[in-house]
Amino acid sequence: MSATVIDGKASAARLRETIAVEAARLKAGHGIVPGLATVLVGADPASEVYVRNKRKTAEALGFKSVHVALPADTSQDVLHATVRELNADKTVHGILVQLPLPKPLDENPMLDILDPAKDVDALTPTNAGLLLSGRAHLVSCTPAGVMLLLKEYVGDIAGKEALVIGRSLLFGKPAAQLLLAANATVTMAHSRSHDLSALARRADILVAAIGKPEFVKADWIKRGATVIDVGINRVDAGGGKTKLVGDVDYEAAKQVAGAITPVPGGVGAMTIVCLMRNTLIAACMQNGLSGPQL
Ligand code: NAP
Repeated sequence: MSATVIDGKASAARLRETIAVEAARLKAGHGIVPGLATVLVGADPASEVYVRNKRKTAEALGFKSVHVALPADTSQDVLHATVRELNADKTVHGILVQLPLPKPLDENPMLDILDPAKDVDALTPTNAGLLLSGRAHLVSCTPAGVMLLLKEYVGDIAGKEALVIGRSLLFGKPAAQLLLAANATVTMAHSRSHDLSALARRADILVAAIGKPEFVKADWIKRGATVIDVGINRVDAGGGKTKLVGDVDYEAAKQVAGAITPVPGGVGAMTIVCLMRNTLIAACMQNGLSGPQL
């Protein structure tokens, strides 16, 4: 039997509707328009596309969108001055500095000065610490999206075995914390892990965030498991064309898994909407209002 396909696009569209309603309510009731600032240093084509999509989504939801484009040779001092200016701007509730930064810029000192209340990517040490303490308001967007999909498609995950492959600050680490907070039994794997396939075969929930096309094979997957594929890899599709594939061998995995996210149309669809969710939450928090129930 073929797995249920987890339709991230449909879930994202529903969440987007709810955010639009909540944003309109915030404006009507309190005169507050959520503001998202994007900062792009340099002209990396992929980063340009990501930032453009984020701005377009913010604008479509009626948010204020501020964009700062800095040249690739921007100094660390100028980057910090930009972040400080946005920290002080009361109409900006969320700041997203698109990563990776061009060399030799260093993201860590930048994250050290970014106001945690406006850190809608949840990458600052303060927000990472709050997540660890179970007190986070702003959670990294892709892991937050994954948890919403699990809630919708699996429901209660208490006691289930979850394996997260990949330990990035952006995804793997926060995802493991969120799964743990939802009472799953969590294992984290990475490039030094031994016998990954054996670890994977135990998992009721298998989350792959590796960045290697179709790396996770069908015979690693426990029958009926929920497979969350975070990877986005562009590969040759023949005839001079390319296509996107995930970190899981999707077609084969579909025959074994109980439910699986496609790439594209799975996890990725949730990420931008969760960024808007964070911006809305940040706008509420900065104005002393309790966050919307999203
Ligand atoms: P990353 O920083 O690229 O790191 C990759 C992780 O995979 C590392 O922890 C690495 O282990 C681990 N890894 C590499 N080779 C491995 C192997 N052979 N066996 C086991 N683990 C291995 O991670 P990321 O930023 O989270 O990105 C991962 C993928 O998710 C990429 O394809 C990215 O494009 C995608 N992504 C998608 C979204 C979305 O919106 N859908 C958001 C974020 C990321 P070590 O730590 O030991 O090096």
